[in-house]
Amino acid sequence: MTKFVYDFAEGDRDQKDLLGGKGANLAEMTNLGLPVPPGFTITTEACRAYLADGREPDGLADEVTEHLVALEQTMGKQLGQADDPLLVSVRSGAKFSMPGMMETVLNVGLNDRSVHGLATQAGDERFAWDSYRRLVQMFGATVLGIEAEHFHDALEDAKKAKGTTNDLDLDAGDFTALVETFKGVVREHAGREFPQDPREQMDLAIRAVFDSWNSPRANVYRRQERIPADLGTAVSVCSMVFGNLGMDSGTGVAFTRDPASGEQGIYGDYLQNAQGEDVVAGIRNTLHLTELERIDKACYDQLLEIMSTLERHYRDLCDIEFTIERGKLWMLQTRVGKRTAAAAFTVACQLVDEGLIDMDEALQRVTGAQLAQLMFPRFDRDAEKDLLTTGMNASPGAAGGLAVFDSATAVRRARAGEKVILVRRETNPDDLDGMIAAEGVLTSRGGRTSHAAVVARGMGKTAVCGAEELEVDVRAKKLTAADGREVHEGDTISIDGTNGEVYLGEVPVVASPVMSYFEGSTGLAENDDLVAAVDRIMRHADAGRRLRVRVNADTGEDCATARTFGAEGVGLCRTEHMFLGERRELVEALVLAETQDEREKALATLLPLQIEDFTAIYRAMAGLPVTIRLLDPPLHEFLPDLTELSVEVAVARERGELTEEREELLASVRRLHEQNPMLGLRGVRLGIAVPGLYAMQVRAITRAAATLAAEGTTVLPEIMVPLVGTVQELQAVAAEIAQVVAEPESLVDGEPVAHQIGTMIELPRAALVAAQIAEVAQFFSFGTNDLTQTTWGFSRDDVESSFFSDYLESGIFGVSPFESLDTEGVGELVEIASWRGREVRHDLKLGICGEHGGDPDSVHFFHHAGLDYVSCSPFRIPVARLEAGRAAT
Ligand code: ADP
Ligand code: MG
Ligand code: MG
Repeated sequence: MTKFVYDFAEGDRDQKDLLGGKGANLAEMTNLGLPVPPGFTITTEACRAYLADGREPDGLADEVTEHLVALEQTMGKQLGQADDPLLVSVRSGAKFSMPGMMETVLNVGLNDRSVHGLATQAGDERFAWDSYRRLVQMFGATVLGIEAEHFHDALEDAKKAKGTTNDLDLDAGDFTALVETFKGVVREHAGREFPQDPREQMDLAIRAVFDSWNSPRANVYRRQERIPADLGTAVSVCSMVFGNLGMDSGTGVAFTRDPASGEQGIYGDYLQNAQGEDVVAGIRNTLHLTELERIDKACYDQLLEIMSTLERHYRDLCDIEFTIERGKLWMLQTRVGKRTAAAAFTVACQLVDEGLIDMDEALQRVTGAQLAQLMFPRFDRDAEKDLLTTGMNASPGAAGGLAVFDSATAVRRARAGEKVILVRRETNPDDLDGMIAAEGVLTSRGGRTSHAAVVARGMGKTAVCGAEELEVDVRAKKLTAADGREVHEGDTISIDGTNGEVYLGEVPVVASPVMSYFEGSTGLAENDDLVAAVDRIMRHADAGRRLRVRVNADTGEDCATARTFGAEGVGLCRTEHMFLGERRELVEALVLAETQDEREKALATLLPLQIEDFTAIYRAMAGLPVTIRLLDPPLHEFLPDLTELSVEVAVARERGELTEEREELLASVRRLHEQNPMLGLRGVRLGIAVPGLYAMQVRAITRAAATLAAEGTTVLPEIMVPLVGTVQELQAVAAEIAQVVAEPESLVDGEPVAHQIGTMIELPRAALVAAQIAEVAQFFSFGTNDLTQTTWGFSRDDVESSFFSDYLESGIFGVSPFESLDTEGVGELVEIASWRGREVRHDLKLGICGEHGGDPDSVHFFHHAGLDYVSCSPFRIPVARLEAGRAAT
């Protein structure tokens, strides 16, 4: 029989798959001897079975009973026992943290009878009725699916009737009345009574937690975070402890160090006389955790002690949830805490210095995505700014855009291409779509641990939270600053998540210190810790990685930039970029040339220009390999647009102004027009169809190289033939190349200048016949953009803007195959071509030059596939270096 239920004492932190993160860590803390209220966890396996079959798996109910009975024995009271009830929380918890996305129900076990027992035991009527109304409210909303608004409004009405806005002013009588009102809400909206049977409450709550795995907001969150949709959630049943038992009780959240900078210190929020989510929901303003020292020194000291135990045990920054019940501290949750990109780097290095982890592990604690985030620009400190207010620096970055006050508008305007800042009093899980769509998030309530802050940090989105001076009126779609200035929907604001400042209007941005570090600028006085940490981790990554990192660059200037970023050569120089602009006419002449003579004249004009281009690139990359791709795009890209030209000719004819030249041009353009140019006359096909074109390019490549070599500069050109499908194509071009390199101008000391000939592998056929191609090619470079298009039969330009969003939404894709390599399909072709090619030519050099060269997941794949290098755009080079290092350790 499968075991579906584990006591907290039975599990450990490595069982996140089975017990969820929350359950596994509750077990770990229990076994560490920390004060965790006893309980048990129902496995994710039970959830998966429930979701698949639509009913609880056989045996689950009995196992739950068994563990409940054991819990009741430990606690010396029964669930919902009338004179002294055991109460429990029923909590969701998946393998990966999904803050606030799923459900939790507190105070399960209270009913019309046990509420009196609870009151007597606690000696506090108000507390008992407050707990009961919370149960009816949470149960109604999460288990019975009633709009939370109905309960919320009733609560607000009760406060209003009392002439207060503070829930602490409500007394036992108010809460007793509120329970009746809430029960009425249940009756009206769920068509049933609030269940009085404690076990029924618990079973329904467990089922609701299972179901919450598939709630729309959980789905949105999973897609955003790339969490698989089939994991399911565990359910932890945990005996209740009470933070709402008076001012000597309370509840709080904390980090073991600053999640924004990594600095050691006391970071957390505490709320007296409150329960569960009150802290993060921002119902009252929280106290800074340091104030707990004054309120309850013993608990405060114990808490710090426990936090240090947890840090040493997990060897990482942790976040925790705790509750104090009448002077007794209870731990309710811990996990390795989400952190900002900057903190990821600094914390990793601090932990190394503290001897908790080594550099290999430090390297695993950071990601290329985080590094990329640190390279983003930030606001110019010296720019004129119109400060509106200052809030909490909840998630770093610099973001500007139009203020919007609801999620739907954020999504709509972002889709229309506008940059927006989502402004809310506080966010809740339903705001997720809007947060994803927005450049940044601004809230007037809640602290560093509020929903907005936690979720924004997780997404790497800029956020300023708890800007309390702002009056946010969501209904009127405006915010009002302390001095009376107003911002309406559509007005531009800027928020600085690094220092918490909010500005009216747009603020110019400047490079980040990490960017300056990579650019090799000096004088980085500020943020030294961060730059030092990045430097240290990058060095370790560079020392450990096997993959080389090259750049995709077409000019000497880009190559020079790339070198400062650490490029170890050029992996792709696209020569077509050199044919655009003013030179387009020359190419047009070449294409339209009718005689050998005309063609040669055009080529002769192009040759010196190309030599100049390559010379600049070689100089910038002296000593490093430079892969130059011969002309690839379809011809028509260099010719006038067919439709425009047709119109022009028709008009001219009408006016009797048509020249013969124009007419001929139209005829040629028409002749060369293709329905599917990307599958037409391009790449090597073009090289073969237009005699002399590739020879001219090779001439420029080798002559420029020979000249520099004669000067003593080391040049290593690699001539790359695009879109080869069969070895015969490559042979034809290779023969042409061989003739050119033997020309006197390409010789150095009587020998052809050093060079290699290779091909791109970007057609499935090429991957399959790689063994034949490798007979001729000295290197392969996987053109994964085209290889993805040709393997899937997708035209990238067409599909990305049409049905891809549907595919992503419905889960057919987890991520676009153009963004992250499709390892199962396209990746398989890469591996096949690598094996087959290397079998024939053992030293066959293998690289990749598609967009995927700078994508973290893809870099790991290429490492394991045994490639020699990845090539990517200049700004992705540090990311690729880091990920290559991570892949190798
Ligand atoms: P989430 O994953 O959304 O944080 P939790 O299951 O952690 O949901 O619970 C929500 C809130 O209720 C948290 O603040 C938590 O600390 C509190 N809570 C959960 N179980 C108990 C309990 N047994 N006693 C007291 N508070 C609890
Ligand atoms: Mg929690
Ligand atoms: Mg290509």
